[in-house]
Amino acid sequence: MNNFKHKKSLGQNFLKDETILNNIVNAVDLQKNDLVIEIGPGQGALTKKIQEKKVNLICYEIDERTKPYLEKIKESKTNIIYEDILQADIYGDIQDYKYENLYVIANLPYYITTPIIKKIIDSNLNVKTMLLMVQKEVAERFCAKSGSKNYGSLTIYLNYFYEIEKLFDVPRTCFNPAPNVDSAVVKFQKRDNKFKVLNEDNFFNLVKNAFRQKRKNLKNNLENYDLNKINDILNNYNLSLKNRAEEIPIEVFVTISNNL
Ligand code: SAM
Repeated sequence: MNNFKHKKSLGQNFLKDETILNNIVNAVDLQKNDLVIEIGPGQGALTKKIQEKKVNLICYEIDERTKPYLEKIKESKTNIIYEDILQADIYGDIQDYKYENLYVIANLPYYITTPIIKKIIDSNLNVKTMLLMVQKEVAERFCAKSGSKNYGSLTIYLNYFYEIEKLFDVPRTCFNPAPNVDSAVVKFQKRDNKFKVLNEDNFFNLVKNAFRQKRKNLKNNLENYDLNKINDILNNYNLSLKNRAEEIPIEVFVTISNNL
């Protein structure tokens, strides 16, 4: 394609499969008065597909060596910010835009997948949908249901804010260079929070503590809480303190947290 030297340390595996690129941007109904944030445009493969939808687009790219490629495809509705997404003031950057819905679309640099998603959640941006290419195992963790070994405090944290669905797998051969792992595209759809948590800090602390030592049961991990009260609630769901956190659905954690 060109003599660009891909940096493994920056997760630079560029997408080269046209069908996959089209399937990503067509997984949401983008309209021209929407705003899209793209993280890590690289040489612009996905950027060009997003531009075809005529939306407003802000891209964050850490590697200025991509500038010659990105400046070539830049157009009036596209703004490219050469900055580390984890340092960026995303909230400030989107203030001047008037838009209907906000989307995040990215073939993510895998070494910072979770920090990026957490940053977007913490930045209070009101993102409607995120379409994210992530490592396949990570996609499975994001979508895991209680009772599965992939279900953990991160699953609960993310599923509290978003309804998460794996859309399709992407084999390593669709990238240049091919990564050592397979990938999947995941759709995060913002929830109008159905969980009715009374105190989010208490809820997330309860979940974090419940998963503190993965092999231990709730009785051990939650020893500093009112265990009698927790046991009564668990019994209503045919569960007990002998269960481990990975067996407890989000709704049950919510009920426990709200009643403590
Ligand atoms: N979007 C392109 C594609 O699909 O072909 C490239 C995707 S590549 C998997 C990830 C991109 O994220 C690279 O261009 C890399 O330079 C960029 N990147 C890595 N770390 C970043 C960071 N902290 N902030 C912004 N961009 C970053």
